[in-house]
Amino acid sequence: MSEAPEEAGTTAAVHHVSPAEAWTKLMAGNQRFVDATSSHPNQDASRRSSLANTQNPFAVIFGCSDSRLAAEIIFDLGLGDAFVVRTAGHVIDNTVLGSLEYSVQYLGVPLIVVLGHDSCGAVTATKGAVATGEMPSGFIRDLVERITPSVLTSLRNDHTADVNDMVEEHVKQTVDRLVQNSPIIARAVASEKAAVVGLTYRLVEGRADLVSQIGTL
Ligand SMILES: [Zn+2]
Repeated sequence: MSEAPEEAGTTAAVHHVSPAEAWTKLMAGNQRFVDATSSHPNQDASRRSSLANTQNPFAVIFGCSDSRLAAEIIFDLGLGDAFVVRTAGHVIDNTVLGSLEYSVQYLGVPLIVVLGHDSCGAVTATKGAVATGEMPSGFIRDLVERITPSVLTSLRNDHTADVNDMVEEHVKQTVDRLVQNSPIIARAVASEKAAVVGLTYRLVEGRADLVSQIGTL
């Protein structure tokens, strides 16, 4: 591909914030959410119309599909702020990598966020499958297979590891794999155009904590 796909309805972004500025902005939004002082920015009609022919998101958020992990809400964002990709247990496949690469290459997104959370159902299912040897049916098995290396590493490091320890390990491994598997992301990180961060989200407090980072913030 030499130019952005037409169907995306976007033009090349003309200005970008740095990875550090994007990180500061993301964390400020999460703090507002934690404090119950969300400002619900960029959600009005003028913002909507201003984005009709362009978008310039400052982050791509790759998180778990869990209904309690709504990306724009927990970081107090609005239209055009974040490019979002979500799968159960934030498992990676080629279309996920393609979506992330699109956001980096064509939208110039400076911050790539991997977002896991405590009590994750997909990680809990994988913990159970590893313990019993019984794999779930259907394509849920694909999720479990992709999370299993993280669960095994977590148990090897600490045989008493709980689900939340496994989630943290899985976030770290997901961050590592994004950079290892995608030359586009690796180049963006090496040239300091983008950074990758791994966050774990606490369902009760609403807080996202940094557990992994590749690149300069
Ligand atoms: Zn989850």
